[in-house]
Amino acid sequence: MRCFGCVARLCWGGALGLSVFPCVALSLVSPWVWRSFWGCSLVLLYGVVADSIVVSFTPLRIVSGLLVFGDRVVYCGDHGFVEGFIDRFGGELVDYSGYTVLPGFLDPHLHLGSLAAWDRIVDLSGVDSIEELLSIVKKVLLREKRASWIVGRGWDHMRFKEKRLPTIRDLEQLDTDKPVFLIRVCGHIAVANKAALEKLGRELENIDWDNGLLYEDSVAFLWKKALEEIGLEPKSYVDALEKLYRYGIVGIGWMSASLDEVIVYHGIEAIKPHTKIYLEPNSFVEWIRYGLPRNTMNIHGLKIILDGSLGAHTAYLSKPYNDKPGTYGKLNMDVEELEKYLLMVKEKEFHIAIHAIGDKALDIVLQLYSRHGLIGERIEHASLVRNDQIKLLVDLRPRIALQPGFILSDTWLVERIGWNRLAWAYRIASLSKIAKVGFSSDAPVEPLDPWRNIYAAITRGEYEGLDIAATMEEKIDLLTALHLHTKGSAETLYYNDKGKLEPGYSADYIVVDRNPLEISDPRELLKIRIVETRVAGRKVYS
Ligand SMILES: [Zn+2]
Repeated sequence: MRCFGCVARLCWGGALGLSVFPCVALSLVSPWVWRSFWGCSLVLLYGVVADSIVVSFTPLRIVSGLLVFGDRVVYCGDHGFVEGFIDRFGGELVDYSGYTVLPGFLDPHLHLGSLAAWDRIVDLSGVDSIEELLSIVKKVLLREKRASWIVGRGWDHMRFKEKRLPTIRDLEQLDTDKPVFLIRVCGHIAVANKAALEKLGRELENIDWDNGLLYEDSVAFLWKKALEEIGLEPKSYVDALEKLYRYGIVGIGWMSASLDEVIVYHGIEAIKPHTKIYLEPNSFVEWIRYGLPRNTMNIHGLKIILDGSLGAHTAYLSKPYNDKPGTYGKLNMDVEELEKYLLMVKEKEFHIAIHAIGDKALDIVLQLYSRHGLIGERIEHASLVRNDQIKLLVDLRPRIALQPGFILSDTWLVERIGWNRLAWAYRIASLSKIAKVGFSSDAPVEPLDPWRNIYAAITRGEYEGLDIAATMEEKIDLLTALHLHTKGSAETLYYNDKGKLEPGYSADYIVVDRNPLEISDPRELLKIRIVETRVAGRKVYS
């Protein structure tokens, strides 16, 4: 049995990327040999039939049958062939009649540690006032009497009727000795009470002590401290993976992970999505001391958060904010330090992913990539792109993780950047023509749901009456959006064998209750239900 398995694996290596050879090779294997593979639980064979199986979105290719062997698709085409093959060689025939099969989604930029912690913190998304925020936290304090910390996340002061940031004085009304630490939706600002601030060293920068406001790295610092206190159990990661699978996400880029988080993740017993991890700087420096090759423990590179967010007025702009004259945002790291990290990554043959939301932060990234000849490296967000930056982007062909969901959340965008700069925002159509673009959620900053991204990319706030709908030249069509959340996202994660269901590709697919290609009102996309998710041939959700 072992021996057959080795032969199969050898054949398999040679067969990747070929569309015809694998099924022909399998057809030549006599039934008893084949059944001996099948008897071994390590090797999976099954056929998939459905009215509509989308193999790829660009070019659009639809079939009615798939054969899966091990973790790979080995045949895609006619359902009659698949039925005949299974009939002769054994294996399960999975019939999805009435449903549609699509390649699974990949999400190249999310924060799995924060997502795992989500069920242990207070969800403050959708809160409309500071008053409501305080009343939610008060209820939690009454309910969770034994909690050592109260950590919340998701508020957005732009939604508050008070139209201001919450402060330490607001939190005093909670009348508690417990540390209370509430992070804005973007993760770049937080408010903390006196007990929480006492956990911070006075030497830390980026803290407005008078108002109890934390910015950028001080938010990350206190978040880490709070997590140590509330404890992150392996079960939380298992739950987080279930959430991914419920949304049809089969592969992830985990950004700003710490080594502690990575260790917990690898300890869990669950089928994991395809994973590439970009560590936060301290963890990365520690990791490279071990000298292990890239992708050991899925560690792929370093994530740098170069600037902040537009919502927090910290994204670094070339001209001041429209609603805060004199404020340009800020860099979290000076150029020399960034260059030092970049050289370290290059020398050790890892990859880098740099968060650049503001156009001035993007200038810095482009100049550095250009100076060091880094072609095809990652850029995160690229939310504001000027026309003169397009030329450099063409030369550098970066991998860009875009978040179309921001379009729907940044309802205040014109207030921040003014009408003149609106054409620079979320340039999905332009960027997808010149770079390897993948769609991502940035969860838990935005909801995980890939359909929300797809909807946002093809409607640009048209149905919500958002100002950005004036920039319809950056709208894309449905097939392109689906491509960018599957094959496009796979490419931003450096995968060449994922995001499609062609032979040789990983058997990652989802089954949905409605065919998105037959929907005429884009709002209906948001109602599509995932019926089943498979990662590398194995069922992870149904
Ligand atoms: Zn992020």
